[in-house]
Amino acid sequence: MKKTFAVIGLGRFGGSICKELSREGMEVLALDLDETKVNEYREIVSHAVMADSTDEFVLKELGFTNIDHVIVAIGDNIQASMLTTLILKEMGIKMITVKAQNDYHEKILNKIGADQVVHPERDMGRRIAHHIISDNILDYIELSDDHSVVEVKAGEKMGGQTLIDLDIRAQYGCNIVAIKRGKEVIVSPMAAEEITKSDVLIVIGADKDINRFEKHLVVEG
Ligand code: ATP
Repeated sequence: MKKTFAVIGLGRFGGSICKELSREGMEVLALDLDETKVNEYREIVSHAVMADSTDEFVLKELGFTNIDHVIVAIGDNIQASMLTTLILKEMGIKMITVKAQNDYHEKILNKIGADQVVHPERDMGRRIAHHIISDNILDYIELSDDHSVVEVKAGEKMGGQTLIDLDIRAQYGCNIVAIKRGKEVIVSPMAAEEITKSDVLIVIGADKDINRFEKHLVVEG
């Protein structure tokens, strides 16, 4: 059976989740206090309703207990976001993703039992900062507080060398898990693989090791 989703809060974040899930053919129930927002999403999602998510009775009436994954995308009203999460948790929703507004909000959401807490502004800020450091750093994904994955253009410093020559694991403590070469993706490349300067390397490791790797091999000039 197809998974069902509900998105609470139709700001920019919740709205873009609704659009993307619907584009992927998913069944989405969208909910917001604001009638204008609800009307905006009527044609996009399977069901759009105007309601207050802090009202447990309303959520039950709307059939939230049958929804597989609920995304709480309420921003400014931290109290409403926490109360909604608590109600959903008590209703036994299997997967609850919540957008956190700040670190304090995130801490409480984790305590309440949110399955996934996202911090889109902070995470996007970090990704862009890494990209600003060097044109060769294409993307940055945080895996935990101290581990990440970066996508980097090999560039002049690494081009023409093999993975053995670069000895990245021993020198920097991080691993190249894949190489993108045009349309080809080489997963778990062999040590003898020669890198070309236009290759894109997917590197995983501890942040401190990735920082050293970036400083020495990625940032040019
Ligand atoms: P974004 O950055 O994603 O645009 P935001 O962080 O500025 O959003 P808000 O605009 O404060 O977030 O909230 C997102 C939406 O959540 C709003 O459209 C608001 O009407 C809705 N919302 C707030 N409280 C509730 C509630 N209790 N029940 C349902 N919807 C709510």
